[in-house]
Amino acid sequence: MTNPRRIYLLSPKDLSPETIAVTFAKTSRSPQPFDAIAAELTDERSAQFHEKWVVGYGHSSVAEHAVLHLALENVSRLAIETIEGNRLASYTEKSTRYQQWEGDAFFVPDELTGHPLREPFVTTCQTLFQTYQRCVEIVQEHFQSTISQDEGESPKAYARRIHTRAVDVCRFLLPAASLANVGVTINARALEYAICKMLSSPLVEVREIGESLLAVARKETPTLIKYAQCNRYLQTVRDEIRQAGKDIPIMPGGDSVRLVTWDKDGQLAILAAVLYRFGTSGSYEACLDYVTALSQEEQQSLVQSLMGKRGKFDQPLREFEYAQMTFDVVMDQGAYFEFKRHRMMTQTPQLLGTHLGFAIPRAITDSGCEVDYRAAMGQAAVLFTQMEAWNPDVASYVVPNGFNRRVLFTMNLREAFAFCRLRAAENAHFSIRWVAYRIAEIIQEIYPLLGTYLDISQDNSSSKIQEQFLSSL
Ligand SMILES: Cc1cc2nc3c(=O)[nH]c(=O)nc-3n(C[C@H](O)[C@H](O)[C@H](O)COP(=O)(O)OP(=O)(O)OC[C@H]3O[C@@H](n4cnc5c(N)ncnc54)[C@H](O)[C@@H]3O)c2cc1C
Repeated sequence: MTNPRRIYLLSPKDLSPETIAVTFAKTSRSPQPFDAIAAELTDERSAQFHEKWVVGYGHSSVAEHAVLHLALENVSRLAIETIEGNRLASYTEKSTRYQQWEGDAFFVPDELTGHPLREPFVTTCQTLFQTYQRCVEIVQEHFQSTISQDEGESPKAYARRIHTRAVDVCRFLLPAASLANVGVTINARALEYAICKMLSSPLVEVREIGESLLAVARKETPTLIKYAQCNRYLQTVRDEIRQAGKDIPIMPGGDSVRLVTWDKDGQLAILAAVLYRFGTSGSYEACLDYVTALSQEEQQSLVQSLMGKRGKFDQPLREFEYAQMTFDVVMDQGAYFEFKRHRMMTQTPQLLGTHLGFAIPRAITDSGCEVDYRAAMGQAAVLFTQMEAWNPDVASYVVPNGFNRRVLFTMNLREAFAFCRLRAAENAHFSIRWVAYRIAEIIQEIYPLLGTYLDISQDNSSSKIQEQFLSSL
């Protein structure tokens, strides 16, 4: 055979990320095999190539082939929001579910240096952490007396289960200043924009993290991250729009999960698109007309062909992306922190504050911790109000996970399947399970033909989860 198939790795153990990126980029113009191209490259020649093509001619996608693994330790959870605000990257972070936070593991923002609010900030965070530690003990004892050991469960496994459940409940007290670690895998193109956003942040901590990332990344990919800098446009837009919106009233209350807009013909669009893909050479309009003219039974039969044989781990087809929904949701910050990890949607969170009140886990009430809990949350809310009048961005650091936050998002039905499957599952945290069930229930109303196939247990519902786990939303 003159043209044998070859499939192999360009290993980062042998080649730098920039050299790998140039090797792939050169295949566009060179008939040579990849390893031959790589053998001719040096770091210097790779840099010259990037200067010419990526920087000079704007062939930016080449930088996607240079991938970095970045370890960030002891950064605040508020800073992590900006770090993880980049869709085209992968993250794993310290979990508020599986780890208990240490007593002083919170960040004191530089903006407070020499400011009269510094001391109240430190005191309030200490109160929150002390209340958290106390509640973990008490809630754990409460669970020990109310949850029995499963048959065959070892004492160690039982103790771990009880502890995890207590930590899950008490995480509501942890402020956004809490320190965490996060591992990030990201390509050089996405990283350049991520750093640009960080350098444009209103928070000193985030800007400093951006500078550190720049320094670290430049060692590995000097040409590709060269031009990451603060973006004036991002700063100006933020400041001017904030001013423009200051008179819009805040209205707490009402339904916490609201569907704002959706594709009314979303189900028909999906069915038309799958027929377009598999069933015909006709136009999309012809497919849509055909599906629309079917009787309800015929539509159901088509849906059965589409979904009936789907296995437990089979994703819905990509055509499920033709149905879009926009929700306006109020969820607690702990739930939002998990929600933000879902990258296949467009999310717009509001600034983290205390205006929308806080949730109370039922176990906090049942274990007798509610007075303590309310006092700590109240102290945080009072300080937040004082800090907000001075600097609303820095004020967010003091807000605990239990406070509610408003998030606007658009997702398609395919992402809704992935989201509900993960987040309505029994092992998910009850805050986000509640959100996932509410979303699923709404989808089942608006898209009954396809919504019935969402991968959620029908034995549960948002109201049952609320009843079981939350005294107050
Ligand atoms: C029980 C549980 C425990 C968890 N514990 C932790 C934890 O301790 N620490 C932590 O940091 N996170 C944790 N997570 C979060 C988890 O790692 C995911 O980041 C989060 O659930 C988002 O899921 P996703 O990536 O599937 O979703 P989305 O980003 O919404 O993506 C939807 C789907 O698109 C595809 N997709 C999206 N991006 C990519 C990509 N870059 N590459 C390949 N496919 C992609 C996948 O099929 C994915 O399912 C936990 C989640 C669960 C459910």
